[in-house]
Amino acid sequence: MSFHRLLIATLIGPELARWKARGHAPVFWWRDDDARRPTPALERLLGLSVRFAAPITIAAVPDGDIVALAKASRAIPDVELAVHGFRHENRAPPGWPSGEVNDLDRLADVMSDLGTAIDVFRRAGVTPRLFVPPWNNAHPTLKRALGLQGLGLSCYGDMRGEAEPDRLDAHLDVMRWKPEPRFRGTVRFLLRTRRLLAERRVKAAWDEPLGLLTHHLDHDEAVWRFLEAFLPVAKPVARTTFGRPVAGRGHIALKVG
Ligand SMILES: [Zn+2]
Repeated sequence: MSFHRLLIATLIGPELARWKARGHAPVFWWRDDDARRPTPALERLLGLSVRFAAPITIAAVPDGDIVALAKASRAIPDVELAVHGFRHENRAPPGWPSGEVNDLDRLADVMSDLGTAIDVFRRAGVTPRLFVPPWNNAHPTLKRALGLQGLGLSCYGDMRGEAEPDRLDAHLDVMRWKPEPRFRGTVRFLLRTRRLLAERRVKAAWDEPLGLLTHHLDHDEAVWRFLEAFLPVAKPVARTTFGRPVAGRGHIALKVG
């Protein structure tokens, strides 16, 4: 058994066994951010998706080559392209949280930027359903624009707020960002996974998805190796299978290895 496999079995195995004893398996989904065009790292990412039959939602920046990205993702069984911001540009005044939309922006201007971004995807033959704001900055004006355009929202968090049915966050970032991007570390990552799994179990929130978050352009070798061990355990399902929760929806059956 590999080092990662051993740690996975030790650190989250008992929690997964508790789920199984209650007749459930956690629902994982997978989001990757910052794609602009096909690259060797994107090839590697898509290779993992194929190898582990793991559907993936790729958040792509509209100023990239979305036509080429759409072509690359169409060659893979289960890839969804999401809109990752307008230009991935921090427009926050000094001292404000980083983001593309802030208190000074008018709804009409945000609607216009959003419309332009959606058009880029449509011209590439993709109808986007999900928006991933850079820096996880879901400004209220942006949320209003997304609602008007019928797009879901995905940021980063612990658990879904009841009041935001069209929001589906990622929760498990494989990266650590400061002082520079690198693997979060197997133990740190798995301890967070265990905590979020336990929270869902205690609340009997069996269908509350857990979103794996990757950034293929920033991965070091340790991240890639960890993903090879984690993906077959998590067995992510396509976001589109639970993007809009329906009252009374049955639990998505998943086998836990
Ligand atoms: Zn980003």
